[in-house]
Amino acid sequence: MVEHIVVIGAGVYGAAVTASLTRRGARVTVVDAGAPGSGTSGATFSWTNSCGKQPRPYHDLNVAGMQAHRQLAAEVPHSDWYHEGGNLEWAADDAEHEELRKKVAGVLDYGYEARWLSRAEALHLEPDIDPAGLPADGIAYFPREGWIEPTRLIGHLLSSAVSHGAELVHDDPVTGLDSTAGLVRTVRLASGRQLSADAVVNCAGPQAARIAEFAGLVLPMRNTRGVLIHTSPVAVSVSRVIHAPHVHLRPDGAGRLLLHSPETDGAAYVSDTGDISVEPSAVTRVLEAGRALYPGLRAATVESVRVGERPIPSDGLPVLGRAVELPNFHFAVSHSGATLSLHAGDLVAAEALGEDRVEALAAFRFERL
Ligand SMILES: Cc1cc2nc3c(=O)[nH]c(=O)nc-3n(C[C@H](O)[C@H](O)[C@H](O)COP(=O)(O)OP(=O)(O)OC[C@H]3O[C@@H](n4cnc5c(N)ncnc54)[C@H](O)[C@@H]3O)c2cc1C
Repeated sequence: MVEHIVVIGAGVYGAAVTASLTRRGARVTVVDAGAPGSGTSGATFSWTNSCGKQPRPYHDLNVAGMQAHRQLAAEVPHSDWYHEGGNLEWAADDAEHEELRKKVAGVLDYGYEARWLSRAEALHLEPDIDPAGLPADGIAYFPREGWIEPTRLIGHLLSSAVSHGAELVHDDPVTGLDSTAGLVRTVRLASGRQLSADAVVNCAGPQAARIAEFAGLVLPMRNTRGVLIHTSPVAVSVSRVIHAPHVHLRPDGAGRLLLHSPETDGAAYVSDTGDISVEPSAVTRVLEAGRALYPGLRAATVESVRVGERPIPSDGLPVLGRAVELPNFHFAVSHSGATLSLHAGDLVAAEALGEDRVEALAAFRFERL
């Protein structure tokens, strides 16, 4: 019988799994090496979407993830961590436009909401964009997409779990797992504390392979870094996620904007001291691209630059659910965790409590790797 479950990691996945387990009546201890939300979930673009995600089961899982956010936000008063403002995207040239056209056709075929806007229609939604920065037409609009504030969501999920009896252990890394007779029995912490466990859920994000190794399992990962630029508060109207050719941006609370460009993700490097730094010229380039699009951004300065590490299993798809070889050890690891974690975490929690193998997780099993 599953009495006590240890969840390793308190990012969006760990918080979602903990909240779901607690709701289902389990006794849960969630352990983080640092502070909750201090991993990738604290350095993410956190766009909720299923835009061009393949194959079909992965698309469907993301759509269900978007719906889970919508539902939680409708249930919880003042849940203003969730922003469903839509997403605008357009291309730099004909080749890119052809890719975008195929993506829109593909998602429409799946029954996902998308439509094409003219420049005038896009300006109606985003009046502070410089019209010269937009094509005359061919602007894709995905109205049900949005973004979340992951740290605030994690705060809500953990606080409701703790108020229902969960224990939160922070700043105490897991240093080992002890198994006997094909089951994990104990979780060892750096402080010397040992937690006996009837089940363990690995929600360690980019460090998930290390935790799997403690359990004697090999989880192949191909993590990548991304650079996120947070501006100072600025009086510019940006109401949704924007994917322009050289800059992606979205609101970031209290008038701040969050800027990202895949073109500058490679500008993060490990310095001599072992810290991760970002080439300043790359930050300036992204900010200039943002200013070219929204001239009002000229008044903004860079408040912080963060580097996040995307937890990406080797084939790019999530690893979710029970490990066949070690049936009380469970995974909740993926990229796109901002979109997926509420829904996928709930499915993983159900399995951790002994439910039969959940059909929706069939395409995401550890064993396929
Ligand atoms: C640049 C960038 C952009 C992104 N954009 C999007 C996006 O637009 N949309 C989207 O859906 N997703 C996006 N993602 C991905 C998404 O942010 C992640 O999938 C998600 O945050 C992962 O959450 P997590 O809980 O798995 O990991 P984390 O948030 O990293 O949490 C893992 C936790 O485990 C803890 N931990 C690690 N090792 C140990 C240990 N030994 N003992 C105890 N605790 C441990 C860590 O301290 C950490 O708090 C992006 C990511 C990046 C980096």
